Amino acid sequence: MLMTFPQMGHVEQLIGDILERLDIDYMPPPRTTAKTLALGTKHAPEFSCLPLKLNIGNFIEAMEAGADTLLMAGGKGPCRFGYYAELEGRVLRDAGYDFTMVTIEPPSMGIAKFVRPIKRISGKSTRQIWRALKEGFPKARGFDMLEKRVLETRCFELKLGETTKAHKEAMATLVKAKTPAEVEGAIEAGMRLIDAVPCDREQPVLKIGIVGEFFILLEPFVNFDIEEWLGNRGVLVSRSVYITDWIGPTSKNPVAGTSDAELTELARPYLGHFVGGEGVPSVAHTMLYANEGFDGVVHMFPFTCMPDTIAKAIIPRVSRDYDIPVIHFTIDEQTGKAGVVTRLEAFVDLLVSRRRAKRAVNG
Ligand code: SF4
Repeated sequence: MLMTFPQMGHVEQLIGDILERLDIDYMPPPRTTAKTLALGTKHAPEFSCLPLKLNIGNFIEAMEAGADTLLMAGGKGPCRFGYYAELEGRVLRDAGYDFTMVTIEPPSMGIAKFVRPIKRISGKSTRQIWRALKEGFPKARGFDMLEKRVLETRCFELKLGETTKAHKEAMATLVKAKTPAEVEGAIEAGMRLIDAVPCDREQPVLKIGIVGEFFILLEPFVNFDIEEWLGNRGVLVSRSVYITDWIGPTSKNPVAGTSDAELTELARPYLGHFVGGEGVPSVAHTMLYANEGFDGVVHMFPFTCMPDTIAKAIIPRVSRDYDIPVIHFTIDEQTGKAGVVTRLEAFVDLLVSRRRAKRAVNG
């Protein structure tokens, strides 16, 4: 058995680490590229959302390289993620591929459902699985914490690229860490490395929050790495979604900083019920960024994504009520970097003039 899984941000480090702890052979797919997207678009239903197309592309590339077992998360809706595993399995079998699909349901659907497939493929006991997760999760959280620190640092750096370089070094050290003590030490060392990047923290910077669908926010290939693009132009970026917040069992979201319960309560005047995905959080985080004095918000989501299409219909009202500019990007396989960057440049210019005008009024 050679297991693989889809790419999404640093999920490769997260899942790879857990599989190693469970002695399961695996190979991550190659990093997502235009070829991956072309493969997924060719085989997936036309109106499926972009993450599904990329998952299919990732799986095909991994199977061509020798993988025979596909690991996929399950879910229960109401967005389409809940049936991704089933649909992807059917699409790939129709395309002639032979494989075993392993679907891991979220712990919220019952611990037995969550643990059963892991037991079957690893041959480990519940206790051993629990231990692997307990040791692997803090490491995954460490990757998120490093990313967050990078976003808060890059805009102040004196030499372009130094924060990215420090981040890569910090990631490489954390990847090698295994024991809880090593993980803790690697996170601390990584933070020190990023904090040591020569910066001018007194320089005024624009602040932009990024909200939207989790896959688009987490995967640099589909968001055109706008976090780095903005940071390199002296914009402090705050992202509202982190992978360990998203999969964490408590829904407290310690990395992003606001729990699901708080987000639900905050968004209630605009959106009073769960619509799946990041629908409610996208609305609530836009309000939060306005309250925290951010200059603007970027909202990104895949074309045909139901939860964030709902959010897009509501956010303009939030933008007016809270006096915060918001730019929306609907991403599909036709979206090009040049178009995104051109609109972002105009948005940043608008925020700069808005800040100048405010300063002139306030003296
Ligand atoms: S949140 Fe949107 S893009 Fe993501 S899986 Fe659900 S419907 Fe698709």
